[in-house]
Amino acid sequence: MREAPPRRGLSRLSVGQCTIGVGGGVMMTHAAYDCDVLVIGGGIVGLSTAYALQRSAPGTRVTVLEKEDGPARHQTGRNSGVIHSGIYYRPGSLKARYALRGSAELADFCAEHAIAHATTGKLIVATERSELPRLHGLVQRGREHGLPVRELGPAQIAEYEPEVRGLAAIRVGTTGVCDFTAVAGRFAAEVTAAGGIVRYGAEVTSVDRRPWGVAVRTADDTVVRARVLVNCAGLHSDRVARLAGDDPGVRIVPFRGEYFALTRPELVRGLVYPVPDPAFPFLGVHLTRGFDGSVHVGPNAVPALAREGYTWPRVRPAELLSTLSWPGTWQIARRHWRYGAGEVHRSLSRSAFTRAVQRLLPDVTEDDLRPSPAGVRAQAVLKDGTLVDDFLIREAPHTVHVLNAPSPAATACLPIGREVARLALRRAQGTGWKPPAVESGHCV
Ligand SMILES: Cc1cc2nc3c(=O)[nH]c(=O)nc-3n(C[C@H](O)[C@H](O)[C@H](O)COP(=O)(O)OP(=O)(O)OC[C@H]3O[C@@H](n4cnc5c(N)ncnc54)[C@H](O)[C@@H]3O)c2cc1C
Repeated sequence: MREAPPRRGLSRLSVGQCTIGVGGGVMMTHAAYDCDVLVIGGGIVGLSTAYALQRSAPGTRVTVLEKEDGPARHQTGRNSGVIHSGIYYRPGSLKARYALRGSAELADFCAEHAIAHATTGKLIVATERSELPRLHGLVQRGREHGLPVRELGPAQIAEYEPEVRGLAAIRVGTTGVCDFTAVAGRFAAEVTAAGGIVRYGAEVTSVDRRPWGVAVRTADDTVVRARVLVNCAGLHSDRVARLAGDDPGVRIVPFRGEYFALTRPELVRGLVYPVPDPAFPFLGVHLTRGFDGSVHVGPNAVPALAREGYTWPRVRPAELLSTLSWPGTWQIARRHWRYGAGEVHRSLSRSAFTRAVQRLLPDVTEDDLRPSPAGVRAQAVLKDGTLVDDFLIREAPHTVHVLNAPSPAATACLPIGREVARLALRRAQGTGWKPPAVESGHCV
């Protein structure tokens, strides 16, 4: 990644606040920084990072800027609410490492802070013979990960879920549900209690990187100077990377996931998933009894026409153009048009969607499904059309970018936050900063 050329609008910032360092380099005094680490994004990843920064280096001055009027307004507050066990993920991947560790840590965090959660276990159900080898593969993978996995035949499926039909299934005992919005809110409260700042309604519109750190400007013309910038902007993370002058190498392609609430929640006792298609990072339409007892059906995966395009009519021409001008988008369309057309058809036709759900839950009817708020996934796509599967974190001078944090990033928020915080603190040390615990007199 390369440095951004200085922007005229921000050049006046450091005048009078800086001291000239040895060798001609510009050095800021500690007091001239508004904070040590500035995090963009008040979703679960940004707030977990801020929380981890203060836990691992107490006294670090942390500011979070979030454009909405509260935490978790996008992916974090619009998802399935499932604490994933880690069974799906390739051994050695960041997803596997962080989900395995993160699921247990998150359940503990929820218990400690009285946040609604439950370890329910879940079924992954094969409804067609062609899915059986993949289901068997998941059994192997689950055992490799040391997860409690049990194989079930049709009669045993009925013991757990009397209304669900399948040829075979597996039950994973460690999957659960929780209130991710409350988790994000708790992180924000902890950050504030430890002396950090979480500012809502603060959209970052420009980033100016200097030899001493970064200066960001928000839509209301406030400027914040920091030693290190952490980009956790979710659906906008590639744009924020470009604001900083970095080439992210990926484009965020938004995929909407639509949900229905089941008006007869008694049809489903817990969590029921299909066998996922390994060609996609999405898990398929599932049945989820949430922490509040309501049951949701979804999400599908259809292209969104805006990054925050929660319905079909929500179109943002500039964002759509940005998606369509990325060569990877056309590669996806070429490779997966058949799958995509099926998803769009099921999005536009309630009866087609219902028929798809009936494969798992034969008794469900169209009348049982009430539209419920959708979510949009921030899926990073390479130029050649590869859907980036694993978490993607990139560093640049004075900057850490989280460029791909799809599911199970909410589950894995604690270990991801710690890792991003570790990278940010290392970068801060590169500016001459020392952890406050050893630099007495500088704690805020
Ligand atoms: C349909 C769906 C279902 C899912 N199901 C699950 C699940 O069951 N379990 C699971 O573990 N994960 C699930 N996920 C994934 C999970 O929701 C995400 O991985 C996680 O929420 C990502 O968090 P984040 O903080 O990176 O992004 P976000 O929650 O999107 O937060 C990013 C924040 O950055 C802010 N922002 C953006 N640009 C700017 C700017 N310029 N200035 C200031 N602020 C800015 C946004 O307003 C937003 O609040 C699901 C996701 C979706 C969409």
